[in-house]
Amino acid sequence: MKTWPRSLEGALAGIRDAGLHRQLREIDSPQGPRIQLDGRELINFSSNDYLGLANHPALREAAIRAVRDFGAGAGASRLICGSLKPFHELEEALADFKRAKACLTFSSGYAAAMGTITALLGRNDVVIIDKLVHASIVDAARHSGATLRVFKHNDLDDLERILQWAQRQTRNPEPETRSSKPETRNVLVITESVFSMDGDLAPLKEIVELKDRYGAWLMVDEAHATGLFGERRSGLIEHVGLTGRVEIQMGTLGKAVGAAGGFICGSRTLIDFLVNSARSFIFSTAPVPASAAAARAGVELIQSAEGADRHRRVWERAAQAQRLGGSLSPQIGRVAEAAPSPIIPLIVGNESEAVRQAEALRERGVFIPAIRFPTVARGEARLRMTVTADHAPNDLDQLAAALRAIANRKL
Ligand SMILES: *Cc1c(COP(=O)(O)O)cnc(C)c1O
Repeated sequence: MKTWPRSLEGALAGIRDAGLHRQLREIDSPQGPRIQLDGRELINFSSNDYLGLANHPALREAAIRAVRDFGAGAGASRLICGSLKPFHELEEALADFKRAKACLTFSSGYAAAMGTITALLGRNDVVIIDKLVHASIVDAARHSGATLRVFKHNDLDDLERILQWAQRQTRNPEPETRSSKPETRNVLVITESVFSMDGDLAPLKEIVELKDRYGAWLMVDEAHATGLFGERRSGLIEHVGLTGRVEIQMGTLGKAVGAAGGFICGSRTLIDFLVNSARSFIFSTAPVPASAAAARAGVELIQSAEGADRHRRVWERAAQAQRLGGSLSPQIGRVAEAAPSPIIPLIVGNESEAVRQAEALRERGVFIPAIRFPTVARGEARLRMTVTADHAPNDLDQLAAALRAIANRKL
């Protein structure tokens, strides 16, 4: 035990040497296009608050009202006595928004992935994930005990090859042991609709056709699509006309929705099963009612006329940032793909170089984080720029000036 502190120090030294050390930066202001960091104001191109709702008066007011009516804490898990009205109202609003029969909210998107995937899958099942899905899905898939297969990013041939393999496996299931898991051998495919670190889109139509052909279920994580895609702005599933064809819709309330928490939408049976089986839901105190109330206000705002206006603004800024990224590639970094989303990564490659560039940008008043392993693969470090509805065109001009200054310094 005495050697433990030294081994932690050794591990941290290794993390530093690899350019992978991370530290928390205290922000002294609300989320927004400008943040206060170390006594300085920086233009913020790092947040996932795409529609600018995290500090919106409607969400703040909803949270304050919920504190007044329901107090600060929920007191217990939802199944004990913490299932306060704001959670039910939020779930109804989400089910309606996502055109699903039912919805269950969790304390975070991470908890939603963990609880759902481990409840649905056991050792006799197969889970097939895209190479670039979020860590919450990877962790849950591993933890579920199901056979885990990874398909190359957005590669339909690779996915089909694995589905064929899974079909052969599921024809000869091992004898079942008694368990609360579903009794037959199941195959679940999981992808994101908009990929969080690359900003590119999954070929959802083709994936839906494949999972239908092979009798698998599909789970789509819409963390970065909710609020941004579709006429009703409910996500990429709606946008590409797949409403009703995806068994498990996952999302977070912490990004475009502007609050915190995670959710799953699906059939009544699925949601009833999760209430009874998802351990991250059952064995966890309900979130504070204020977060549910704020999230519900966010879901409503997204669907309002103001939501439409904010949606138009974020896409204008995204187009502007994409042109900028394109004009700077490859001096600063490669732009991953001209994917239509408010996430524009400049892929630098080397971890320490990405950190130096992020520092140089901060000196010029611009905050963009250096995203590194294990969030992305080694050697794929990047400046991940995100834009929001509250950025002014002029903010993008300042961003352009700062990026050009760094690019010139490098040459
Ligand atoms: C952020 C994120 C999550 C986790 O959601 P939280 O609510 O932040 O826990 C899951 N999936 C993706 C793709 C994400 O970007």
